Amino acid sequence: MSTRAIVWCPRCGFEETFDSLSAAREWIDDHERETGHDPSWEIGGMAHGVERAGAAAGVCGIPGSDDDLDAE
Ligand SMILES: [Zn+2]
Repeated sequence: MSTRAIVWCPRCGFEETFDSLSAAREWIDDHERETGHDPSWEIGGMAHGVERAGAAAGVCGIPGSDDDLDAE
């Protein structure tokens, strides 16, 4: 399963798509540490609250939504 994550930072206007969640989380981690900004991220097309919960829990799985992921 390949899951894309879009990350962006409202503070500096950065936006990029990552091919893996771990890469996206790593960038966010670094960016927060380096700049003190508060980047957002979105996995697939899901609502932000879900990813924030996932990020907080430190998991890569996406709970509760198979609709988009099963498309292939
Ligand atoms: Zn920033």
